[in-house]
Amino acid sequence: MINGLISAEENTRLVHCASDCTQLVRTPGPPVQRGSTVLLSDAKAIYDHKQVTYGRSGLATQTALSAALADLEGAEQAFLYPSGLAAITGALMAICSAGDELLVSDCVYGPTRRFINGTLARYGVTARYFSPTEGATDVAARITPATRAIFLESPGSLSMDMMDVPGISVAARARGVLTIIDNTWAAGVLFKPLARGVDISIQSLTKYVCGHSDVFMGMAAASGEAARLLARGTQEIGWAVSPDDAYMALRGLRTLHTRLAQHGASALAVAQWLAAQPEVAEVLCPALADSAGQAIWARDFSGICGLFSFVLKVEYADRVDAMLDGLSLFGLGYSWGGFESLAIPCDPQFAGRTCSGRFEGPVVRIHIGLEAVPDLTADLRRGLDQLDHGRCAERQKLRATG
Ligand SMILES: *Cc1c(COP(=O)(O)O)cnc(C)c1O
Repeated sequence: MINGLISAEENTRLVHCASDCTQLVRTPGPPVQRGSTVLLSDAKAIYDHKQVTYGRSGLATQTALSAALADLEGAEQAFLYPSGLAAITGALMAICSAGDELLVSDCVYGPTRRFINGTLARYGVTARYFSPTEGATDVAARITPATRAIFLESPGSLSMDMMDVPGISVAARARGVLTIIDNTWAAGVLFKPLARGVDISIQSLTKYVCGHSDVFMGMAAASGEAARLLARGTQEIGWAVSPDDAYMALRGLRTLHTRLAQHGASALAVAQWLAAQPEVAEVLCPALADSAGQAIWARDFSGICGLFSFVLKVEYADRVDAMLDGLSLFGLGYSWGGFESLAIPCDPQFAGRTCSGRFEGPVVRIHIGLEAVPDLTADLRRGLDQLDHGRCAERQKLRATG
């Protein structure tokens, strides 16, 4: 023994301290149970894989969260992933094999395309993209014997296209083709994909479920054979989330309805206000009466969240950055679903997609947070004022120098 001050008995007591906590007092939330090793009752249990034998899945906090999410999505099971993107890539890896083909809506979240065109292509899975403006019959007509699944997102990222998800799902199921949807916009609340025939519903919980722009997590929910495939994929690939993050997601679920109601009401008010501004050509929000997706939205959805886009008039094509730089309450940054309002320009992401060229003017996507609506419209007004102000200043400068 190098250090004679350490007593052998104390050492062993310290190593095994606090390991006898089988009798926890009850709190409203589950314990944040940390653990990699799971202690088993006897030697026989070590190879009984019907039990939880390892802490990568099955601990208290994560189990409570996946049960709550399965309930929310109307699924037999929900699987957790360390980010929304990991839920998308994990679900696709779980169902696709080399030689399979995917049909993918052209308006999906950008990193979803990057994975499909990159990793998935390297593994021998091909993809064909279709315009989100296509109806169910046209999408179904694209199915070939190689088609494994159809990947949907409705409303689509940025362009907010609404798809006939129930129609596509029914047609796909009749052909033995799976449907998968990125259901992040609806947060599992505003649209119920599994009840409408979709096989796998995916959410970035980073957005509304966690709700405070400070946690990454994703989930995929399914029943029957699709759930079995997800379970196998999760186990083989090794997806796991921390109990602390799972606890944050559970805490977010408790206020999800209340927050969504406020995000939706404020977003509708801001969308209507924007539609009346002279600089705005079109507001891409499915709840607006004259929007392209309104009929599908009214049929399938029970509300809107805080995320929508708008198109500026074409004469402001070169001024969108000045408008965004003129905002102070709206943050400039990716992601959404948190308490705060955000804005991004969309056009750089439209390149190579069917929606490129569909909108004459520049497109801006905004997330309406929980701030007061008059403050948000005042901030947007200051931003919109930059469209002309800046131009006048430039003209004056040109005149002065020319
Ligand atoms: C943000 C987002 C994702 C990815 O979620 P992360 O948790 O950031 O990985 C997936 N789909 C949509 C529609 C998103 O907006």
